[in-house]
Amino acid sequence: MTALGRLRFPVAGSRGRRYPEPPHPYRNDFQRDRDRIIHSRAFRRLENKTQVFPAGISDHFRNRLTHTIEVSQIARTLASALELNEDLTEALSLGHDIGHPPFAHAGEEELDRQMRRFGDRFDHNLHALRIVESFEHRYARFPGLNLTFEVREGIVKHSRDFEPGENPALDEYLPGLRPPLEAQLIDLADEVAYNTADLDDAFSAGLFGIDQISEAVPEFERRYEQTEGQFPGASCRERFQEVLRGLVDGLVSGLIQGTSHAAEEARVADWTDVREHRRRLAAFTAPTQATDRELKQFLHHAVYFSEAMVDERRRSAAMIAALFEFYVAHPGKLPEYYVEPLAASTVHRVVCDYIAGMTDGFLERCYHQVTGA
Ligand code: MG
Repeated sequence: MTALGRLRFPVAGSRGRRYPEPPHPYRNDFQRDRDRIIHSRAFRRLENKTQVFPAGISDHFRNRLTHTIEVSQIARTLASALELNEDLTEALSLGHDIGHPPFAHAGEEELDRQMRRFGDRFDHNLHALRIVESFEHRYARFPGLNLTFEVREGIVKHSRDFEPGENPALDEYLPGLRPPLEAQLIDLADEVAYNTADLDDAFSAGLFGIDQISEAVPEFERRYEQTEGQFPGASCRERFQEVLRGLVDGLVSGLIQGTSHAAEEARVADWTDVREHRRRLAAFTAPTQATDRELKQFLHHAVYFSEAMVDERRRSAAMIAALFEFYVAHPGKLPEYYVEPLAASTVHRVVCDYIAGMTDGFLERCYHQVTGA
């Protein structure tokens, strides 16, 4: 393993905040961003937003807040092992899902479907940018959280980079350039966290058995067979947990190795080279990449789109659709603080912002109120 301290993004290299602020005596700018995210309303609302399994089925399953904490733990481990900037990494990972709408991917898809009817789109990363840029009201001197450029850039480039001209609204976020290595790692830390956690929750929910996962993910099977000799007499549940921990560890190690290797191959000397390089450098090794992909494919058919989840997805999508249609037809029924945005934007965009900010519980209450159902 090669540490990549030379590629660490220095806090002094930051392009700073939109509204300049005096420095803090003992917290650097990225530490302050982390703190601003933790103290935001959008962050607290993650507790009542579904990750995969809706609240109420079990108190042991992840919600979007506990998922975020897991991503932060994994990403900080990566940053520390690679000698990257842990403060920037932590701020980015804690903020990575604050733009997520209620009801997980079903909610995201339905909001996007509604927006397309108006020739528009919904994207949770862009929504997160709008939250930190304007929807949070915590400062008298400026709207939003006034985060550093790199944290905002990391939010808009969470899953992919974009080319010049691709999205004029994002022109200030260095189109055509890669984000810092710290930001590149968040997307993959997110994958490691949700692939393994969703497997854990779905196994607890009884959505699949050992035979099915062993057949789909050879690395799971290999590790599961190993546990037989290592822990004679261990229960199936204990062996599953041993394998799960091994999988997280293996994937994280694969990311550390793969990223070190890619950085060496690319001959990048410092963080400015990371930006200029034509591809992202954060990567799994080939075998861990294969395991990550197999896990994802397995979860898709065995969990996310399984029979057991179909009704729940349909129910959440229907509630969002009904609320969206109601508020588009009756914008006057939106809360009073939407009067100003309504004057400055389209009705469908304001309705989308309102619904995207809701927690699962608040959306349900609104739905019952509005439809009388
Ligand atoms: Mg996530």
